[in-house]
Amino acid sequence: MTERLYYTDPFLNEFDARLLSVTRIAGRTAVTLDRSAFYPTSGGQVFDTGWLSSPANGERLRVREVTEDERSGDVLHIIDVEPSCLQPGSVVRGAIDMERRRDHMQQHSGQHVISAAFEKLYDFATASFHMGDEGCTIDLATSSVTPQQIQTAERLANEIIAEDRPVEIRFATADEARTMGVRKIPAAEREKLRLIDIRDFDLNACGGTHVRSTGQIGAILLRKTEKVKQGVRVEFVCGQRAVSTARHDFETLTEAAALFSTHIWEVPQQISKWQDEAKAAQKAQHRLLEEVAEFEARHLLQSAEQRGAHKLVVQYFAERDLGFIKMLAQKITKAGQAVALLACGGAQPSLVFAQTPGLSNDMGALMKQVVQSLGTRGGGNRDMAQGGAPDVERARQALAAAAQAIR
Ligand SMILES: [Zn+2]
Repeated sequence: MTERLYYTDPFLNEFDARLLSVTRIAGRTAVTLDRSAFYPTSGGQVFDTGWLSSPANGERLRVREVTEDERSGDVLHIIDVEPSCLQPGSVVRGAIDMERRRDHMQQHSGQHVISAAFEKLYDFATASFHMGDEGCTIDLATSSVTPQQIQTAERLANEIIAEDRPVEIRFATADEARTMGVRKIPAAEREKLRLIDIRDFDLNACGGTHVRSTGQIGAILLRKTEKVKQGVRVEFVCGQRAVSTARHDFETLTEAAALFSTHIWEVPQQISKWQDEAKAAQKAQHRLLEEVAEFEARHLLQSAEQRGAHKLVVQYFAERDLGFIKMLAQKITKAGQAVALLACGGAQPSLVFAQTPGLSNDMGALMKQVVQSLGTRGGGNRDMAQGGAPDVERARQALAAAAQAIR
């Protein structure tokens, strides 16, 4: 079982170790050492990256990923290539990518602070923690969290950060931990628990890497909340991520504000004003189209062919859409005894067949026949049917064919 150097010193960034084995696991090369400062993914925290090098010949290998062999407890350092220099028994030097580690420490320590804040303020226990590439989340065991509770917890967490309280690593048995008032004691039977102690604020069992004092977390920014199966998921970012997230938000808002020529704080009002205007414009457009359709219907009926007791209107519209020809079909068939066979071009060539209720054709059946021959979809009832056409030319041909079928 690999000796875990980060357990007692999370700021150790270089170490020497003896190489135990090099194995192939699922097509990748895994190196095990007798001791390691590399953190493997566990407890919600993601793995470190860094380098392994050989002091003997200077060869340097990138550590892409670090995992834990659950059975043996070994830390597996995943590297790109089969190393020629690293022989079992040889000494290697490990170096951690500390920028990445610092970010993980800020997120993980920040999680302890925010989880403790929710627990102290509202008795919301943290059911799970997830660290992502961008944001982190905790799932709180509660059915709802109000925006006010989010703000209050965020404020308390940032006060704890500003107070720069020491964060210490302690070891205790499960029984000792219980009497110490540890927030959450893991079920796994272990001889000694590793505890993270944020002075006079939080004491929690955890194997992760943490800052030395809360000031190093920098800041905590709570973001989205979302209902999930086990409670409410709260998204948050800490430290440098909080700053870069706020910067991203600001730039997005600034871009939006420039589109409206307004201040960023006025963006919601401006959007709502534009929505109202867009709705009003849509209504006005609809009214105008109704009027156009009314005129068009009258005009078409005047020049339409008389077929027995009804008129037959057959018309193709290059510039209109399905919505318009449906509206027009309704107007034509309402104005008198008529059958309307209409088609439109544009991005989605379509067909509409309609008749005044009571006439003897079956528009649904006719449309079914037409779309079957076109290889498209469509249908309807006796008096009104619609369907698609693969292109403009075939829409026009289908119209002509349908006109032949009308009694
Ligand atoms: Zn933890």
